[in-house]
Amino acid sequence: MPEPIEDRIERLQAGGIIDMHFDLPMDLYEKRQRRDVLETEFLPELEAGNICVIGAAIYIEDRYLPESGLRVALDQIARLYAETAASDRFAICKNYREIEAAREKGRIAFLITMEGVEPLGTDLNQLRVFYELGVRSIGLTHVRTNAAGHGGVFAASGSPTEGLTAFGREVVHECEELGVIIDLAHINPAGFEEILSITTRPPIVSHTNVRGYYDIERNISDEQIKMIGERRGVIGANSILVSPRQEESTLDRYVDHIEHIARLIGIDSVGIGFDFFEFIYRQWPESRQKELAAKFTTPHFIPDLTNHSHARNLTCRLIERGFNDADIEKILRRNWLRIFEELL
Ligand SMILES: [Zn+2]
Repeated sequence: MPEPIEDRIERLQAGGIIDMHFDLPMDLYEKRQRRDVLETEFLPELEAGNICVIGAAIYIEDRYLPESGLRVALDQIARLYAETAASDRFAICKNYREIEAAREKGRIAFLITMEGVEPLGTDLNQLRVFYELGVRSIGLTHVRTNAAGHGGVFAASGSPTEGLTAFGREVVHECEELGVIIDLAHINPAGFEEILSITTRPPIVSHTNVRGYYDIERNISDEQIKMIGERRGVIGANSILVSPRQEESTLDRYVDHIEHIARLIGIDSVGIGFDFFEFIYRQWPESRQKELAAKFTTPHFIPDLTNHSHARNLTCRLIERGFNDADIEKILRRNWLRIFEELL
């Protein structure tokens, strides 16, 4: 008798799912007057989705820049440490060994990441400080230009044509020196190529989509996907930019992005970077939602893939779409684990 699909989902999920991009620290910071936010607001969904590792991204909103960038980044990390210390269900991990130890104990591992180097200002010494605090993956920019380089725009063309600044190159070299993963999500096409030309290790793109389905420079082209494949890197599929149209923002379209990357560079180079954002978006007043739409785009959330408990829906759909067990496990965790083992 064939294995019932529920059993198969259960079995594939049991080893855990790795999501390499989640804006958790900024939400913990905004709720800094409260206690046990992790346990009460996040743990139920994380457990329901069998999430085992989260890339917890430090990100600084425009309203805090430039004066408070460093302070808010430190406070975001402080909240993550305080919340983690108050629970026995989480662990902040700085290397592969610690991640594996957390998984063995059934704890959810946080790998601290940084989305945009604004907290560093133009001071390379700060990078060392953030490294000591546990930051293990860095993307140089978000959408806006900063001291390191330029972000890709939310349009088919129009990003600045220059790559990194001298400071940006220094940050990249220092990251390789220290053992910090370099994340190519968001960087403009010129910066993307330049980073690959001055590094040697496997690169990651923690959360992105393919331009074939949503043609904006913030996403990545087939050429760029191939460059990641050649270097044995991993690309995390993003759930909020799968299509410019709401009606096409579906779980199947999400799987289309995974399939497209796997077809171009193989199943060993595709992972997950959900970038779940609806919970933050929901908390915003309408004026801020409109501001986001004007500045970037209106995010189209996938109805059955908007929070971590929905990870099971993805596993189910991967099965229905014909992926075999070994490939599903690579997408859910094994590819990211390979990167951690190799780089951390
Ligand atoms: Zn992002």
